[in-house]
Amino acid sequence: MTNWETVIGLEVHVQLGTATKAFSPSAYSYGVGPNTLTDPVILGLPGCLPTFNEQAMRYAVKLGLAMGCSIRQLSRFARKHYFYPDLPKGYQISQFDEPICEGGKVEFWLNDKPHSVRLTRIHLEEDAGKNTHQLGATSLVDLNRAGVPLCEIVSEPDLRSAEEAAAYMRAVRQMVRYLGISEGNMEQGNLRCDANVSIRPMGDEKYGERVELKNINSFRFVQKAIEHEVRRQTRIKEEGGTVAQETRLWDANAGMSISMRSKEDANDYRYFPDPDLPPLKVTDEVMTEVKNSLPELPMQRGIRLHETLGLPTSDAITITAEIEIANYFDQALKEAGETKKNAKMISNWMLGDLSGALNASGKSFAESPVTPKSLAELVELIDNATISGKIAKDVFAKMLASGDSAKAIVEKEGLVQITDAGAIEEACRKVINANPKQAEQYRNGKEALLGFFVGQLMKETRGKANPKMANEVLKKLLGE
Ligand code: ADP
Ligand code: MG
Repeated sequence: MTNWETVIGLEVHVQLGTATKAFSPSAYSYGVGPNTLTDPVILGLPGCLPTFNEQAMRYAVKLGLAMGCSIRQLSRFARKHYFYPDLPKGYQISQFDEPICEGGKVEFWLNDKPHSVRLTRIHLEEDAGKNTHQLGATSLVDLNRAGVPLCEIVSEPDLRSAEEAAAYMRAVRQMVRYLGISEGNMEQGNLRCDANVSIRPMGDEKYGERVELKNINSFRFVQKAIEHEVRRQTRIKEEGGTVAQETRLWDANAGMSISMRSKEDANDYRYFPDPDLPPLKVTDEVMTEVKNSLPELPMQRGIRLHETLGLPTSDAITITAEIEIANYFDQALKEAGETKKNAKMISNWMLGDLSGALNASGKSFAESPVTPKSLAELVELIDNATISGKIAKDVFAKMLASGDSAKAIVEKEGLVQITDAGAIEEACRKVINANPKQAEQYRNGKEALLGFFVGQLMKETRGKANPKMANEVLKKLLGE
């Protein structure tokens, strides 16, 4: 039995969230009436000239710098010719042999360790429209999406499993959201991916024949489609056959792929430099500006949370998954004071009670009724023993409901923890005197009854007694 190794390279398309299209003044938004967002350039009317959207160039540079690519000072637009109703001009404006970004890498956590996948290039291009094929002989064309600027991120064939490919996709989504250049929403099609998949006997250097899977439009399907393709190729090879080099379409409903075209009749796109567009220039000023606008990137941020602030990797990964969660954490920590102890307490609250409450109300961290500042205040009250951990849970619930600060709630409700030794002793005596039978049983060796007395004491003090002191005093008095 041969042991097969999976080899995957991804081509990811990111729709850039610019105000207008790549080469014309129309805006774009998802889900509006068909053909309401077009203009003469999109329609390919004769005599129209494209002008390139400077914002899209800045976004591409931002992505390239964040992914460690080298940025070409002068890149070039090329025409990629094909005939399809979603492309009235008869060609797509793309980049061919002089893309804006080359090299670079995508970094992500794989099994709790930093991992990286090399990039071949990132180039700019325009999106095509959308065809809808109806039953019978009718097809509809919606050109709203046509002309939306895209970055195509091409990876080296470095990925070795469907799971790794899905993690890579999530990292791309995370990055574009950190950079604020795209929503990265696969369901709405502003993040899409084609997966190139092959298998080879483990240990072989030569790659196998690859199949390109198109039309993968959710994170779940990235993994499913690749797993399915690997099984298909393995079956063919184990039966002594050869895998045909082809493009296949993933059918999510059927859970399988269907052949679209073979590489033999692959399109000849007749690429040539677009004579309507000058070379695309990235000036030193733009480079500097964009560099200065980069946020702390997800992987660096995760490593800082783990190594400098001592959070477990799983906490660091979850907190840095979305920039707004990471920002919430950093703000709360700044307010509370940057210690490892505070970091862990804030992380626990964020990933526990706060996440739970936000999920239940469908809110994001940015919309949290408990602000980073008030979470920091709560953590401080626990840390300086003003309130016990148990009371803190109730205070937190009240903060969520009312939006009041922790201090205000603690003061209003008189929840300050009792740490006065005399007061605690008095309460303990009261509880013991009220339960002489249990006290006797305890003294006769039934030590498990200590829990009962702690419970009674908490009832007596409305949960405010310092738990450690309460335990000690009860033990001492019951031992007398
Ligand atoms: P094309 O332009 O025909 O799509 P490219 O050479 O640009 O082909 O490669 C596209 C993608 O295919 C890249 O992401 C690359 O890593 C990947 N790829 C190339 N060869 C293989 C292979 N044998 N198995 C898996 N992926 C591959
Ligand atoms: Mg391709």
